[in-house]
Amino acid sequence: MAETDVESIPEPAEHQPGTARSEPRRKTISNSYVHRLQRRHFLLFDVLPIFGTVAAVAFLAVHPFGVTELVLLLAMWIVTGLGISVGYHRLFTHRSFKAAPSVAAVLAVCGSMAGQGGLVSWVALHRRHHECSDREGDPHSPNLAGSGLKGRLRGLMHSHFLWMRRHEYPNVVHYAPDLLKNRSLVRVARLYYYWIVLGLLIPTVIGGLVYQSWTGAVSCLFWGGLVRIFVLEHIVWAINSFLHMFGTRPYRSREQSGNGGIFALITFGEAWHNNHHAFPESPSFGLDWYRLDPGYWLVKVLEISGLVWDLKVPSKDRRESKRISDKSSPTAGAAA
Ligand SMILES: [Zn+2]
Ligand SMILES: [Zn+2]
Repeated sequence: MAETDVESIPEPAEHQPGTARSEPRRKTISNSYVHRLQRRHFLLFDVLPIFGTVAAVAFLAVHPFGVTELVLLLAMWIVTGLGISVGYHRLFTHRSFKAAPSVAAVLAVCGSMAGQGGLVSWVALHRRHHECSDREGDPHSPNLAGSGLKGRLRGLMHSHFLWMRRHEYPNVVHYAPDLLKNRSLVRVARLYYYWIVLGLLIPTVIGGLVYQSWTGAVSCLFWGGLVRIFVLEHIVWAINSFLHMFGTRPYRSREQSGNGGIFALITFGEAWHNNHHAFPESPSFGLDWYRLDPGYWLVKVLEISGLVWDLKVPSKDRRESKRISDKSSPTAGAAA
């Protein structure tokens, strides 16, 4: 659920407008240029935040962790986390509701600040994940690296982090034509790197103003910027890795996705991953009101405000038709 920015990846010549297409459109692109972009993105936005987090802890010797750092860390984490969950995932990838263009643009910016990939690339990758879930072609399945403890560990490492170094890039013309048609959204998506910088500047400037010092600014850049990116990334990646190997399976779905209810709050509701794979069209991942789903709470608030509409929550009958009688049986679901 991350990687590169589509804006700099050229469409193969035979797929450009006005050119005769001599072969079927390729679903994925794999060449040295794409892999170079992936490596650069991986180092800048996946590896660097790890070092940034270590540096933030070391910097405590220079500047203590205060209320400002805590507030910035939490606020930026929530804003960018909802940008990913509600914007990138529920709205743009699955079209589980309709939104006013201004709301869509704000969600796209908030999601971009997370540094988990440009909007169009992210959507294309995630649609491919749903298409190939836990089978060949899935960009980040933990279940394709062999059996036994060694295979499972290798699978977890691949799906959590290592896949992003280099992978087949989903052709966005195939996977995200709806987004490419939306010119204003593509304009926002093209500024992906600027949004990341904005997400780093906001805590830095606020920190500088509050503390009236350079060390205060740097401290808030660390906690509201790099640590925040680090924390959110590992939470999102844990859905790709752990929740495709562990968790309960109340609903039939063809892959190994599981629910991890105790993580519902910190994942903005994404931890209801089995529910999500069973009903990808639903803006609610919890499906029942008592299952914590902060992403859906935001969608409901926006609906009450008239800013989003047409929520496609599955009916009771549809849900019951997919329910597995033994709710905690991983094998029952896997076999179905
Ligand atoms: Zn999944
Ligand atoms: Zn999804």
